[in-house]
Amino acid sequence: MSYDKDNIFSKIIRGQANVEKVYENEDVLCFKDIFPRSKIHILVIPKREYTDIYDFSKNATSLEKEAIFSAFENLIKIYHLNKSGCRIITNFGVDGRQEVPHLHFHFLAGEDIGKMISI
Ligand code: AMP
Repeated sequence: MSYDKDNIFSKIIRGQANVEKVYENEDVLCFKDIFPRSKIHILVIPKREYTDIYDFSKNATSLEKEAIFSAFENLIKIYHLNKSGCRIITNFGVDGRQEVPHLHFHFLAGEDIGKMISI
């Protein structure tokens, strides 16, 4: 699947749509989900164009992959979650019900997220 530059996250990265940023590094942007499913609901996205986790896994550099984990670590620190925990999910493709075709991880925290979440 070729990357669709019209998707909302691509516009956010280009500065054409506003979001509430909570953390960013050279390769990753983290911002609040506009429709939060938990008290803390952050979206973690790579700044380069990757459609989904499979595209990212095949084509991203090691530094970009490390940057995603670094962002998770920083969010855990920012929100003091090292004891309470969180859930990190990515939806992929049709069966995964991915709506925005730019790789994103849902970072859910701030309360008991439940056994499994449907987003
Ligand atoms: P998914 O179903 O995994 O593709 O999730 C897409 C997520 O993007 C949903 O949780 C939406 O609430 C969120 N979303 C869509 N547009 C925006 C936006 N402009 N700012 C922040 N979050 C957004």
